Amino acid sequence: MHELGITRSMVSIVSERAQGQKVLRVTLEVGRLSGMLPEAIRFCFDVCIQGTLLEGAALHIIETEGRGHCAACHAEPVMTAPLGRCPACGEPTLRMVAGTELKIKEMETESCV
Ligand SMILES: [Zn+2]
Repeated sequence: MHELGITRSMVSIVSERAQGQKVLRVTLEVGRLSGMLPEAIRFCFDVCIQGTLLEGAALHIIETEGRGHCAACHAEPVMTAPLGRCPACGEPTLRMVAGTELKIKEMETESCV
């Protein structure tokens, strides 16, 4: 599963940043065009945090919309698929500018409380 490797590396990044503190909450930003399913990430997260500083941490996922930019007419339409023609002018010049990101937006450790 694609999500498993990525979730595992995110868990290790968070553990590193936590510097020995217990992690209470993690917020991820997942683009709708990233190809990652929030439900799958959630499942993998629960598996990957066992025995780490993140064990028992709450996972919060924020889904971000896909957005493209058209080189021909400079429209910035919402995109639901990675490729497509510009809905405004019909040119196949749409480039993705948002929606493929997958990042750790926030994390909360014991010391923050
Ligand atoms: Zn266009």
